[in-house]
Amino acid sequence: MSNNNFEFGTRLIHNEHSVDKDSGAVSVPINHTSTFHQFDFDSFGKYDYARSGNPTREILEDTIAHLEGGTRGFAFASGMAAISTAFLLLSKEDHVLICEDVYGGTFRLVSQVLHRFGIEHSFIDTTDLNKVKESIKENTKMIYVETPSNPLLKITDLKEVCRIAKENGCLTFVDNTFLTPALQRPLELGADIVLHSATKFLSGHSDVVAGLAVVKDEKLGEQLGFLQNTFGAVLGVQDCWLVLRGLKTLQVRLKQSQASAQKIAEYLETVPEVNHVYYPGLKNYAGGDIHFKQSDGPGAVLSFRLDNADTVRTFVDQLKIPVFAVSLGAVESILSYPAKMSHAAMPKEERESRGIHDGLLRLSVGLESVEDLIEDFENGFEKIRLKNKKKEKQFN
Ligand SMILES: *Cc1c(COP(=O)(O)O)cnc(C)c1O
Repeated sequence: MSNNNFEFGTRLIHNEHSVDKDSGAVSVPINHTSTFHQFDFDSFGKYDYARSGNPTREILEDTIAHLEGGTRGFAFASGMAAISTAFLLLSKEDHVLICEDVYGGTFRLVSQVLHRFGIEHSFIDTTDLNKVKESIKENTKMIYVETPSNPLLKITDLKEVCRIAKENGCLTFVDNTFLTPALQRPLELGADIVLHSATKFLSGHSDVVAGLAVVKDEKLGEQLGFLQNTFGAVLGVQDCWLVLRGLKTLQVRLKQSQASAQKIAEYLETVPEVNHVYYPGLKNYAGGDIHFKQSDGPGAVLSFRLDNADTVRTFVDQLKIPVFAVSLGAVESILSYPAKMSHAAMPKEERESRGIHDGLLRLSVGLESVEDLIEDFENGFEKIRLKNKKKEKQFN
C-alpha cells in the first residue's frame, strides 16, 4: 500500500505500515521487548537489542522519513534528545551559527553544555542573510535554524541559508516543530537534518514527550544512527505508538487550527490593548513572501504583545478556554508566557534584547470553536479595560 503519489493527507493514513503484514491489524503492533532471540547461530537477524532497533520504533522512524522526504528517520525520548544527539555530530573547536530566538532548551544546550565541550557558537539573526554570511568563521560547521522562529515567528529564507551553508562546507539543521512536514519540508530546500519535538503537532494530544530527526544523505544517516545507538536516548515503544496514532490526524488538525489561528490573528490586530501581533498569515508580514515560498501555510502558532506583565496577568486570569501552559501543537489551545516559560532559561537582558518582552504571549491554537475562543479573549481584554479605567479614576 506504499504509494508516494498519494497526497500528504492520504499518505498519513495509507503507507507501507498501515496494515500489519502478519496479522492484518490496522494499528501498528507494540513490540514490548528489549531483546530478540537469534534463530540461527551463524546468521543473526535484523534486530538484536531494542536500543539499537525495535520494529515499532522503526515504523515511526520510517514514517517520518517518508513524510519529510528523507531516507532515514530517528525517534528519541524528547525533542531535546533528538536535538542534543544531532549536535553530537560536532567536535571540539567546531563553531555553530544559531538563530537568535531559538527554542529555550536549545539555547541552554548550546550555551551551558556544549560550550564546556569546546563547541563554539554565535547567536545571530538568521533572517538577515548578510549577517549569516558575515558570521561564518573558518571553523563554522553548522547553521541551525527555526522558521517561523519561537516565539517571535521570524522568517528565515531556508533555501538561501542552505545554499550559504553548502558553499562554506557547513551542515544546516532545521527545527521544523512549528510547521511539521504537512506545511514545510526543509530537506527539499537543501537542509541536512530536520528536527522535531514530536511532543507538539505531530502527536498533537498533549499526551507524550517525543523527538524525531530525519536526514536525506545516507552517510549522514549512518552517523546519526550510530549516535542514536551510542547516546541511547531512544523513544519507548508505547510512546512511538502514540506518535503514530497522532500522526494520522495531523493534516486535519493543522488545517482546522491554522484556519482558526488566521481568524484570531486578524481579530487581535483590531484590539487596542494588543500592541503587536506576530503571525506569518497576516498581510504585509515581515518575511511573509519568503514564508509562503517555502511552506504551504502560516501554521497554528501566533504571538501577541500586551503592555506589561501586569496586563498579561489580568488577561490570563480571566480566560476560561486555553490552558495556560508550556508547550504547543495540541487539540486544546495553549497559551504560553515565554518570559517565564519557554525562555525562562534565558537571562532577562538577553531575552529582552531578542524582543521577548514581558508583555508577550504565545498562542497555539487548538480545535475549539474559534468563536468561543475569540469571545473568551474579548472577555480578557474587557477585564484589562475595566482595570485601566479604575486606575484612571484613582489618579483623578
Ligand atoms: C518543545 C520544543 C522543543 C523541545 O522538545 P521536547 O520534546 O520538549 O524536548 C524543541 N524545539 C521547539 C521549537 C519546541 O517547541
